[in-house]
Amino acid sequence: MNYRIVKIDPPLQDEEGYSILIIYTGGTLGMAHDEEGTLKPFNFGQIIEELPVLKKLGLLLTVISFPEPIDSSNMDITHWNDLGYIIQENYDSYDGFVVLHGTDTMAYSASALSFMLEGLSKPVIFTGAQLPIGTARSDAGQNLIAALQIASSHNDGGPIIREVCIYFDYFLFRGNRCQKVESVHFDAFESENYPALAEAGISIDFNYPVLYETPLVESFKVHKVQPVKIALIKLFPGLDEDLLDHILATPGLQAVVLETFGSGNAPTTERFQSALKKGISNEIIFFNVSQCNGGRVLQGRYTTSKHLLDLGVVSGADITPEAALAKLQFLLSTESNYHQIVRQLSIPLRGEMA
Ligand code: ASP
Repeated sequence: MNYRIVKIDPPLQDEEGYSILIIYTGGTLGMAHDEEGTLKPFNFGQIIEELPVLKKLGLLLTVISFPEPIDSSNMDITHWNDLGYIIQENYDSYDGFVVLHGTDTMAYSASALSFMLEGLSKPVIFTGAQLPIGTARSDAGQNLIAALQIASSHNDGGPIIREVCIYFDYFLFRGNRCQKVESVHFDAFESENYPALAEAGISIDFNYPVLYETPLVESFKVHKVQPVKIALIKLFPGLDEDLLDHILATPGLQAVVLETFGSGNAPTTERFQSALKKGISNEIIFFNVSQCNGGRVLQGRYTTSKHLLDLGVVSGADITPEAALAKLQFLLSTESNYHQIVRQLSIPLRGEMA
């Protein structure tokens, strides 16, 4: 992968401070108006001009940029592997990492990276903005500064955060618990099923009991993800069963995230059941995730989910669809045994589900 180091002029270096690597992938945060008033990717080399307050943080900052900053709607697994590669290459040289990313798919990328970075013992904080850095009232500066402070927060035991997070609008969330819920207001992200890890007020208050603890036995390892065939099927009353059969007959289909109703419920019709049964006999994995942002899948609570349990559909408990897709992407890329994948899917690997 060819990434480029952006020369910050004047350089932002405080020899005493913690060293943070900022990885700029694109998105709204890094935009500014040109002379004609058009929004264009902003030259990060001039970050001090936009945010002179960065000088006061006392940090040793380095910026790496994707060769072409992208809108996050164009994120794909190649970019996730690029991020993994950059973090792996620079892991020992920095105290923490801040990933600047468009908000649209940030929850997917943060989820994917949470699985790909095994044994992480340093902070990887994703952030972005609803308004470009170069506009009045932009949230970019606040988000970036707090993300940098969090990425450099230490106590006697070392870095306080040792997981992949999203910082946005005063809150730090576990990355694989987030969803983008807002495209207009500043509070773009929510983590319905897991408490915020920190809140930035006058000080940054960490919620210590809910922070992820990397198992001590684990050493840091970056996994790559491969192209896999996963479908996301959101149930709705009136879903055409021919269409369902058609999707499930896709050659090479490996897994389906089934977005079910309420606490994991689905139709009990003969046709629906036989479609799933056929899929499972063809070793297609079905992962049951609720359409409700809050709460969890409880297969067997109602008759309308008991058949899923009996068929061998895997419960996603309180996982988000974003994290469910990322988890399948990760497991199908790194594990070839069907039963192992099913087993790992149903247990929390990085605090992504209860
Ligand atoms: N479309 C933009 C992106 O996700 C929106 C943003 O950055 O907030 O890249």
